This record gives sequence, C-alpha cells and structure tokens, in this order.
Amino acid sequence: MLAPADKKLAVSGLKAYYMTEAGPVKAVDGVDLELAPNESLGIVGESACGKSSLGAALMRSLQAPGKIVEGSVVLAGQDVSKLSNSEFNRQVRWKKIAMVFQGAMNALDPVYTVESQLRELLKEHGFEGDLHDKIAKSLEQVDLDPSVASRYPHELSGGMKQRVVIAMALLLEPDLLIADEPTTALDVLVQSQIIKLLKKLQEEKGITVILISHDLGLVSQLASKIAIMYGGQLIEVGSTQDIYKNPKHPYTQALIAAVPRLRSDSKKIHFIPGSPPNLLNAPEGCRFYDRCPYAMDVCKKTPPEFKTETGYVRCWLYDPKGKE
Ligand code: SF4
Repeated sequence: MLAPADKKLAVSGLKAYYMTEAGPVKAVDGVDLELAPNESLGIVGESACGKSSLGAALMRSLQAPGKIVEGSVVLAGQDVSKLSNSEFNRQVRWKKIAMVFQGAMNALDPVYTVESQLRELLKEHGFEGDLHDKIAKSLEQVDLDPSVASRYPHELSGGMKQRVVIAMALLLEPDLLIADEPTTALDVLVQSQIIKLLKKLQEEKGITVILISHDLGLVSQLASKIAIMYGGQLIEVGSTQDIYKNPKHPYTQALIAAVPRLRSDSKKIHFIPGSPPNLLNAPEGCRFYDRCPYAMDVCKKTPPEFKTETGYVRCWLYDPKGKE
C-alpha cells in the first residue's frame, strides 16, 4: 500500500457499466489500483474481460451506453472523478491523461497530411501561431523524421502510423498515457520497436504508461507491474517478476502456461477450457468458478479478495478465511 503522496494514480472501487435494454453489462466491476510515479502497468486479459473499458473509463471515453456508475480516480493528488465532464475535458483529457485507442492508426484522415492533423489538434486546444517546430519535435520524440509531417497516411508504414498516433497523444504532454493494444496488426519486429518506444518515453520523459493487451509476453517487456483482468475485475495484481515467476491465481497460472515457449520440448498447446462469464449476469461468487480446476464450495457463493504484501489476488486458495 502506497502512502497518498507517493501515488501517481489511485483508482478505487471503479465501476463502469453498459446500460443495455437487457440490464447493465458490468464491464468494469469494482477496480482498485495504485501506481507509483516510476511504475508502468500492463493490464492483461482475454477479449471482453473489460480491459479496454477500464482504459476508456479512466479517459472518460466510454462508448454509449457505457457509463461510470461508481468509484474514484485520483491522478497526482487530484480527484479527477469529482470534475464535471466539461471540467474533465478542459483540464484532464489529453493534457493529463491521453490514450492511444485500439485501431487508432486506421482512423488517421487519409486526405490530410500528418502536419495538418497534428496542427488541427493543437488548434483545438488553443495553440496558435507557427506550430511547425512543435510538430517537428513531437515527431522526433517518437523517432520519426520531421519530414514525415508533409506525408499522407497512405505513404506511411503501419509502424510509422502508430508512431504518429502516439505523437498525437503526447502533443499536450500528459502525465499518463494509456495505450490500448498499440501493436495489433503490426509485425513482430515493429511490435517490439513500439514497445521500446513506449519504454523510452517512460524513462526519458517520466510519462506513466498503462499498456492494455491480451499478450502477457509483450506486456512484460514494458510493464513493471501487471494487473490480470477477468470478468470485469482485476483478479491478480503484482510486480511483473512476481506474476511471471510466482503466479498465484489459477487464471494467471493458466495464462502463463498458454504462452508459447521457444525453448520448450513440449509440443502441447495449453488453453483454458470454457468461456468467460456473461457480464450481464455475472456469477455471485468467484467469476472463474466454472473454469477453475481448484474450485471449492466457498468459491461459488462468496466473492474472494485477498491482499498480498505487494498487490492482491482474488482467490479463496490464499485467504485463510476460505479454509474456515
Ligand atoms: Fe478457483 Fe476458487 Fe480461487 Fe476462484 S476462488 S480461482 S474458483 S480456487
């Protein structure tokens, strides 16, 4: 547990639901999270576990009918959850928290040059005058030659487009950058370059990075801390080393077993049987109950939660109360 002054980000009891006609889909259901200034976080889980919704909730960019129903988000000591939408837009969005949305590189406007698109964004936020130098610097910080500014998106490779999108997110110098699957659709070499770039930005500029991905191996190249998400909840949070070397939650163990290993003699492909829970009608107790090989009676009815020294794990196997 970090002292309040040491926290860069503190998320408490965050709930974000999609209000459908059939009822609320509990995509983010009680997330607690803390990050120190020097930490970077990877949020990992299967499709539809709620990880993208969590990123969008932090950025207040949930697609309708999604909405934040509860919880607080404190960034560098400021409780930004208390701000109205217009205050949040003015004070926080892009200026303090920025996000590279999933598939953003495909949303670059094909009829405008990179410079026009960066210039437009700056003007929207009140920047006037000759913005050429600022745009050149923003491209250089993502390791692109400033001449890229005069090119159209179709003249750029996938990796270059993704760098442009990251440059856009960093234009207003945010403290926190959330990158949602930033390497999807890129080849393995370019994926690794993008991760190295995010790491460099974090180390050199002091930007806190949250990387959202289904790929635990990829996330571990960047993140100092990993949060495993399942069924709308974080089910294990710990240092990257602990999660990799000593995974506690049965779901984390299964995820790690499913990572292919180049040096292994085994040709067996590990997978997790069953499917994730329906978040329209989430299970009463542990959300992994139906797929867990260690499930006990207590798991079915009572939601588990257990704090460890460095994080937490939602599993009755580790809570002494589960054995009573
Ligand atoms: Fe498995 Fe029970 Fe732990 Fe859930 S709480 S992961 S069902 S042992």
